[in-house]
Amino acid sequence: MAELVQRYLDEILAEHADVTDGALADYIPELTRVDPSKFGLALELTDGFAYESGDARTQFTIQSISKPFTYALALDRIGHDAVDRKIGVEPSGEPFNEISVDDRTKTPKNPMINAGAIAAVSLIPAADPQERFAQILDFYSACAGRPLDVDEDVYRSEKASNSRNRAIAYMLQSFGVLDDDPDDVLDVYVRQCAIRVTSRDLAEMASTLARGGVHPATGRRVTSAAAVQRTLSVMMTCGMYDTTGDWVTSVGMPAKSGVGGGILAVLPGQLGIGVYSPLLDENGNSVRGGRVCRTLSARLGLHFLSVTRESRSIIRATRDVAPRVRVYELHGDLLFAGAEQTLRTVENDRADVDVAILEVSKVDDINDTARAMLAGMRESLTAVGKEGYVVDPDRRVIPTDGRSAGAVVFGTVEDAIAAARDHVEIQAGSANRVG
Ligand code: GLU
Repeated sequence: MAELVQRYLDEILAEHADVTDGALADYIPELTRVDPSKFGLALELTDGFAYESGDARTQFTIQSISKPFTYALALDRIGHDAVDRKIGVEPSGEPFNEISVDDRTKTPKNPMINAGAIAAVSLIPAADPQERFAQILDFYSACAGRPLDVDEDVYRSEKASNSRNRAIAYMLQSFGVLDDDPDDVLDVYVRQCAIRVTSRDLAEMASTLARGGVHPATGRRVTSAAAVQRTLSVMMTCGMYDTTGDWVTSVGMPAKSGVGGGILAVLPGQLGIGVYSPLLDENGNSVRGGRVCRTLSARLGLHFLSVTRESRSIIRATRDVAPRVRVYELHGDLLFAGAEQTLRTVENDRADVDVAILEVSKVDDINDTARAMLAGMRESLTAVGKEGYVVDPDRRVIPTDGRSAGAVVFGTVEDAIAAARDHVEIQAGSANRVG
């Protein structure tokens, strides 16, 4: 069956193979020496299964696709607040190498332009530049699932033609954004841009982001979910140079391109994509890479804002199992909207029901918000002499740790019904005594 997907990808690549528009990046001299005909695509699912098409194993330098990863590393190491003090999250509306900071905050507008990316490098805690670079390389390698290395020729070439980024680094120092020596920070930045990857590596790195920071093949967490959420947000709003609005509209995946010719795109929860073709448009984006992403998104339905179906009811069935005791069978993903629907239904039934039993063994997924809402539901029921129980045989949905505080959980529906009957009886008894 995998051949079917492979065929889709091969066809999409073939459709764009003849496009020769665009030009090699030439402001880093070494980049003019790459083979312009190379064209590779890889797509990796969040379970680690990968497809490759064309020159998916051709190596090229990561360039600006490094930016989201160093930003994620900084967020992970020193936290959002410390990062926010030095780098904004607003689209800049300026070229990626603009020598500017935000008028008001005097910090780089976002981490996807060079100023923000150089600042992000400086935020990785390290004793010296070597250690800082080693951490960056280790992190990228952990995301790619193999040890990456540096293209020394590209590194030297950019280093020798780097006046603009030096200007940016010194400007950042003058505004107090860089605490360390600007040349040291810049050296690490240039090295990180020269890290070699393949389309396959990019797909794996993208898939790690798609899985919220868990490496798809090893299942190992390499960064926090919070860092990934923030990074993907900034990629969405600032990732594709000056064409981000068009990209979001037509492709609909957080992405980052680099002047080396790569594009990395992420469909959260589903997959990661890596494309390589070094001929760039006037904005610095790979021409064929961009076209492939557009076609993939349209043909495979990957736009993250496409509403594929209205959300189905989380309550599959209800049944009255004893006088004033009702079981609510829940299924699917129990997130905010599903928990809200459950609470509202139980609330509406309050005149007829004294004990609501939520059967959650068929729930696929639940988040902390929904857990807290279920616990809160019981609280409001007990406040008026009623009860709310949960049936969760393997404690998969309502774990035994502190997150489920307040929930009363049973292993079987029968046990919950027995407890519910007792509750109804006790309530009736005390009502009679009062009467
Ligand atoms: N090393 C390049 C620079 O800083 C990366 C630029 C890019 O890929 O956009 O100019």
